[in-house]
Amino acid sequence: MFTLLNIAQPESLQDAYKIVTAKKSNAILGGCTYLRMGSQTIHTGVDLAKLGLHYIKEHDTFIELGAMATLRDIETNAALNKYFNGLLPKAVRSIIGIQFRNSATVGASVFSRYGFSDFITALLALDTEVELYKGGRMALAEFLDTPRSKDILTKVIIHKTNRTASYQALRNSASDYPILTVAVSHNAGDWNIAVGARPTRAKLAVQAAALLAGAGADVTPAILEQAAQMAAAELPFGANMRASAEYRCAMCKTLVKRAIAEVAACK
Ligand SMILES: Cc1cc2nc3c(=O)[nH]c(=O)nc-3n(C[C@H](O)[C@H](O)[C@H](O)COP(=O)(O)OP(=O)(O)OC[C@H]3O[C@@H](n4cnc5c(N)ncnc54)[C@H](O)[C@@H]3O)c2cc1C
Repeated sequence: MFTLLNIAQPESLQDAYKIVTAKKSNAILGGCTYLRMGSQTIHTGVDLAKLGLHYIKEHDTFIELGAMATLRDIETNAALNKYFNGLLPKAVRSIIGIQFRNSATVGASVFSRYGFSDFITALLALDTEVELYKGGRMALAEFLDTPRSKDILTKVIIHKTNRTASYQALRNSASDYPILTVAVSHNAGDWNIAVGARPTRAKLAVQAAALLAGAGADVTPAILEQAAQMAAAELPFGANMRASAEYRCAMCKTLVKRAIAEVAACK
């Protein structure tokens, strides 16, 4: 369990940023579900509760997820269940349990860039941007490749497109960390294939997606097989206590194939 020496509830993002960057051991507090797994001493914990960041808003062309929205909010939100075949609710549904998801927040889940993240894998397959207080707005893929520095993730923006999508994940047991996560989406010939928990963070399989884009409207069994093989070949896999690199690579072919087939079947 972590030790918190002071707590601050700033009334502006400017003050929150000032406090969090004032000392190395100061930290933003999300739902504290991950922080409590560690044993660090936090000099000042910055609670964002007074900044109005606990929301999910649907606009004409995009959906905004405030940093303090919880994973349970994602799971139960009507718009997110309607768009992209409910990709995001499906992705978070297996994370521990409802009580846990009532605490874990969007901001922490994305900012921390956990390799095992179901949520990031699903977001990466959509047209997603993140907004950071200092770093500004950027595509999620760019943010994932940016070196870590202290900042506050204020919101996630998902552009509303006609993407159809599928989420697949493999776990040794329900509510464990995933062995592999896959999200595939398609809109008017444009495909995204995101693979996470490799065990490192989610990445797009761009060559496999290009193959599908070039194949046109009809995803034949041969193209499906080739795209799955290509995704597994172009992405690096590693080992941890849950699975070997070889197993992850083999499972990647299976899950990517399943996800593409599911998306291709969507009308
Ligand atoms: C036991 C366990 C199992 C899990 N299993 C899974 C799983 O299977 N799949 C999955 O996808 N996820 C899983 N997670 C991750 C979980 O979904 C949350 O993403 C994670 O716990 C962080 O949520 P939180 O809001 O409680 O963050 P906190 O614990 O409050 O914070 C985590 C980190 O994020 C920083 N932070 C918080 N908010 C912000 C912000 N707005 N901007 C910048 N930095 C911020 C904090 O300073 C801290 O460093 C698991 C977590 C735990 C503890």
